[in-house]
Amino acid sequence: MQRKYIVVTGGVLSGLGKGVAIASIGNLISSTYKVVPIKCDGYLNTDPGTMNPVEHGEVFVLDDGGEVDMDFGHYERFLNTTCKFHWNLTMGKVFDGIRQKERRGDYLGKTVQMIPHVSDFIVDHFLKVGEESEADVVLIEIGGTIGDMENELYLEAARSLKRKVGIENMVFIHLGYVPVPNGVNEQKSKPTQQSISMLRQRGIAPDIIIARCQEMLTDNVCEKIANFANLRKEDVITGVDVDDIYKIPLVFEEQGMSELLSEKLGFFVSPDLREWKEAVYKREKYQREITVAIAGKYTALEDSYASVMEALNHCASYFSVKINLKWIDTEEENIDMTGIDGVIVPGGFGSRGIEGKINVIKYCRENNVPFLGICYGLQMAVIEFCRNVCGLSDANSTEVNMETSDPVVDILESQKDIENLGGTMRLGAYPARILEGSKVYSLYDDLEVFERHRHRYEVNPMYHQMLRDKGMVISGMSPDGTLAEFIEISNHRFFVATQAHPELKSNPLRPAPLFRGFVKACLD
Ligand code: GLN
Repeated sequence: MQRKYIVVTGGVLSGLGKGVAIASIGNLISSTYKVVPIKCDGYLNTDPGTMNPVEHGEVFVLDDGGEVDMDFGHYERFLNTTCKFHWNLTMGKVFDGIRQKERRGDYLGKTVQMIPHVSDFIVDHFLKVGEESEADVVLIEIGGTIGDMENELYLEAARSLKRKVGIENMVFIHLGYVPVPNGVNEQKSKPTQQSISMLRQRGIAPDIIIARCQEMLTDNVCEKIANFANLRKEDVITGVDVDDIYKIPLVFEEQGMSELLSEKLGFFVSPDLREWKEAVYKREKYQREITVAIAGKYTALEDSYASVMEALNHCASYFSVKINLKWIDTEEENIDMTGIDGVIVPGGFGSRGIEGKINVIKYCRENNVPFLGICYGLQMAVIEFCRNVCGLSDANSTEVNMETSDPVVDILESQKDIENLGGTMRLGAYPARILEGSKVYSLYDDLEVFERHRHRYEVNPMYHQMLRDKGMVISGMSPDGTLAEFIEISNHRFFVATQAHPELKSNPLRPAPLFRGFVKACLD
């Protein structure tokens, strides 16, 4: 089969769930074909690694160490695939590439221009990713909303891509919005029509429209949008509001999405969604209920911990349990722990709110409350243990206090001489040797595991022996035996932490082992 391209644009406003919509389309196609997602972001950062998660959402980390947009989390979970750093294009990467080419002399004698040089560079990237990865289908998300200045070059690239790969091998899907304004109580198609016009001004005619709406589109509105876009009614799909994003592939399929794509692209997909549906259904028809607290400083924006929440979602299906989340702001004076079945202390940076985290961990350790520490959560658990069990009252991380007399968490040796801050943390998948007989071992059922990392600090190896002597088990170490990758306390219902981010590899059909163990302990 000739390689196919699907380009998805967004209209009207941001936050319509374009990433989930695309991941859902990918989910349907990936039942039959190899789908490779590309996301195009308009910003000039090389990657989101240097951005504030409250502004931009979680930074997702890939096996190859790439720091990418959080939509890649949806792609990996919905497509059951492992993505690559260069599948996330940013204007930062594009301009870097152009400047390098120019200095090398690739454009000798020419005036380097936005069009065609930058747009061609982007097209070449699309083609190269398709070739390298041997994708059957390349699924391209143009970030932002049509009309944003910073995404214009991507749109121009996508327009010209269709001519290059042949119109029969490419479709444009446009995600619009159909509001039902209060008081009017009627579906309004105009915003979507207007964003279709804006696409047309750029030479793009959508082949499929997904209209996000709080209810299914009426026949009349469907017809209106279809007519305006020169399409048939069946080319307009409702992206209806759902209470669970994992229902979106089902919602699309009920409206004939895979048939529509098959017809437009000349291939054949017929997904088997039984297992997926069962997982969604198991979560919905829950048998039991628990409350899990997440103690962190970015609690104002749940997107900062998107993968942690997804990993819990996967466990909710696995155990058929409803997991209520309680956000604990660790900067608050009095933290109320009543009614909490377990606590997660997720990743984090800097000193804000850390004393609160340490107190919460102490509470869990002393009261036999299940605790899962992730990255900074592991570091805080070690500090707590050193202070309150080992008697090192000043124990701290040098990230928080450079002058501490007991730097039980310290900067990694490999990080000491690093000057640039972008993309230089210990990033990506690293192996860890697991201690036989430990809780971590029982959960992974493996002596070697690969989890993804994103940190600069580690448990100071000088304190490993003391920690062991006082009863903390270092249940996973880097293969050279220097880094504590997993820790646990044995005579506790569940007290486990890892320097890695296991949430990043959790899958709706296979929850991350540590999360599975944690939720099970909360249920017991
Ligand atoms: N701030 C800590 C470090 O850099 C932890 C990072 C994290 O939680 N991702 O090591």
